[in-house]
Parts: sequence; structure tokens; C-alpha cells
Amino acid sequence: MCETKKLSILGSTGSIGTQALDVCDKRGYEVVALTANSNVELLEKQIRKYKPSMAALVDEKAAAELKKRVSDTKTRILSGLEGVCECSMAKEADTVLNSIVGMAGLEPTLAAIKSKKKIALANKETLVAGGRLVTKTAEEYGVSILPVDSEHSAIFQCLESMNKKEELKSIILTASGGPFFGKTAEELKNVTVKEALKHPNWSMGAKITIDSATMMNKGLELIEAVWLFDVKPCDVDIVVHRESIVHSLIEYVDNSVIAQLGVPDMRIPIQYALTYPERFPSPVRKLSLSEFSTLSFYKPDYKTFRCINICRNAIEKGGLYPAIANGANERANELFRQGKIGFLEIAQLVEAAVNNGKSKEDYGLSDVLEADRNARLYVSEAVGIF
Ligand code: NAD
Ligand code: MG
Repeated sequence: MCETKKLSILGSTGSIGTQALDVCDKRGYEVVALTANSNVELLEKQIRKYKPSMAALVDEKAAAELKKRVSDTKTRILSGLEGVCECSMAKEADTVLNSIVGMAGLEPTLAAIKSKKKIALANKETLVAGGRLVTKTAEEYGVSILPVDSEHSAIFQCLESMNKKEELKSIILTASGGPFFGKTAEELKNVTVKEALKHPNWSMGAKITIDSATMMNKGLELIEAVWLFDVKPCDVDIVVHRESIVHSLIEYVDNSVIAQLGVPDMRIPIQYALTYPERFPSPVRKLSLSEFSTLSFYKPDYKTFRCINICRNAIEKGGLYPAIANGANERANELFRQGKIGFLEIAQLVEAAVNNGKSKEDYGLSDVLEADRNARLYVSEAVGIF
């Protein structure tokens, strides 16, 4: 594998997408395709700066508006999911960085794999919902999936010290605990969207910030780790680490533990996914350990933050249950942000969807899409909102 040279960025207007462009500036990568959902303003700016050969907006109206605005450039403007998939298959690109939020990233990821691109994956929902389908397809096409999620990048880096798979005992994912660390269920009953959006250490998109508050994010990451590193769910442990300096750890059979540390800045894992196996200087601030008098670690409060074990249960049950948990969460997360349900209802709805969902062991893309649709519908029906 060698360093990325030409790159397609899916979800380029988001938190990860814009930081990925910053890495491109520093490393001098050529950006050949850009996509977003509906942000015309920012995508226009990015097109003028990076001059990609194509760009896509999912929203048809927004795409038509963008097409008008950039008619003086050479960039071809596409629309809809098809347009996004076309960008992920862009001929010139050697790498696709997928930073789309949610399950909408699944088909573009599969399209990129089938076009034999190196995949830098931030879009964890792709692995959670697509699971074996994604890993099997990547294997079949001989494509590498490099993690961008900070915990998984940390595990990936720690695993470079591993000699044989049998030596690995467990993976330990760190979690910041989010804005509601230490709160009781009673105290969480009436928390507002504004309070839930205040993450202590990271500035991220709205969906993942709410997932961090419910700790669904750690549940999704547990499933992501199972697929990325081919480990059993029972071998993935979670520890709350408030400072987000230790990004995750691995434990060997001799009880030696290896960790990866750094300041909380996504440009480190983004850059490493693109430069692997090499390393280069980055614009990220140096970690000065003496600045931190204490690094703290706690056992998660599984009773209050129920989403972690709901996800653990879903991946242990296997089949389409992770896709159901993810779909239900995407809908419940959205309803919470719209002020239509309470914070604690998110976990209740995800759990009920998993308990009531139908699964099968051997699944293809249409099964995953159907499980996702049904889970969202289940949540909408349960709260009487369509
Ligand atoms: P964001 O909301 O800031 O950006 C999402 C991007 O996806 C935007 O460009 C948006 O236009 C695009 N998008 C939204 N809906 C879409 C759809 N239906 N189809 C196609 N494109 C769509 O989100 P983010 O915080 O950058 O997160 C992106 C992904 O990376 C998520 O899966 C998240 O879990 C993961 N991630 C983010 C961080 C972080 O620090 N932000 C860290 C680790 C992992
Ligand atoms: Mg993470």
C-alpha cells in the first residue's frame, strides 16, 4: 500500500470532510470528487478551491442550483445517491474517504470497494449496518478498509505491534462519557437538545454528538471494531476516559497493554488512514503529558447509558440486528433533535426495535436496506410520527 495521491471525499462539507480537506492541503493530495447532502454554499467554495472533475449533492434541487452557480467551472455536477456513487467510483481516484453521516454511506462504500479504491472509512454506520456484506466484499475485491474513527485508528496502530492473532486477548475502546457523564436516569429525563449537543472534547456533526451523549456511539463503535478487527463482541471492552487523550488500547495474552495517545484532533487518524503505512509531520498540536496532572478511567454506567449493551446484544444476536439497531437509532436520534421525543426514549426505541425486528443470517444489500427501513418505520409508528 502507498500514500494516497488522488482522493474522492464523500461528505466533504461535514466535520470530518472539512478536516480531511485540511489534510489534503497539507499533504498536497489532488481532490478529484466531492459530495454532500444539500450544502450548496460550501460545496461551491470547495469546488472553486479544489477544482474536482465531479461533485454531487444528494438533494436534486440543491444540485440544480449548484450546477447553475458553477457553470463557469469544469466540474461536472451530479445528483442523488447515484451521483454520490459515481463520485465514489471516480476513475482517477486511488482513495475514497467516506465521511457521510449515517447508513446513507453504505451504497457509496460498496461502490468504491467494487471500483477497487482504498477506503478511508469514517462512516461507521456502513460497517454497523452492512457488517459481513462490507467486509466480505472488501475481501473479494482485495480492498483495504482503513479506519478514520479515532478509537479504531488507535486499535489499528496498536495492532501493528502484534505478531500473531492468538496473542491478542482484548480490545479496549475508550469513551469520553459525553456531556452527561455521572448523571442518573432521573436527571436525564428532561435534558434538552442544546445540552446534549455540548460535547466536552470533540466538535462533531449533530448526529454523532447526540450518539455520544446517549453513548450509542460507543455501542456502534463496538460493532465497528468486531467487523474491522475480526474479534468477538465479548473481547471488546469499554472504559470511560474523560480527557480523550488515550484513544484506545489492546491487551495481549501476557496482560501487556498497548495504547495510542494524542491530543483529540481528528486530523491525526484522517492523515494516518491516507498515509499508512508511512507517517509524516502533521499540523496537530504535540501532546504534552505533563499538561495533564491526571488521566482518569471509569467503568461505564451501563444501567443509565443503555445503548451500549443494546448494541452488544444486537451484534451477539448477529444477522441483521445491528442494522436494525442502527436504523432505529438514526430515526430516534433525528426525532430527539427535532424535539419530538425525550432523551431516554432513544434507548427505549432502539431496544424495542431490536426485540421486535426480523433478521436472517445470510444477508445481501436489499436485506440490509429493508431491515433499516423497517426499523425506522417501527420507531416512527411507536411514537406516532411519520
Ligand atoms: P457531519 O454531519 O458534520 O457531516 C456529514 C456529511 O455527510 C456532510 O457533508 C453532509 O452533507 C453529508 N450527508 C448528510 N446526509 C447525507 C446523505 N443522506 N447522503 C449523502 N451525504 C450526506 O458529520 P461528521 O461529524 O463529519 O460525521 C461523519 C461520519 O464520521 C459519521 O459516520 C460519524 O459517525 C463519523 N465520525 C465523525 C467524527 C467527528 O469527529 N466528527 C469522529 C469519528 C467518526
Ligand atoms: Mg470514535
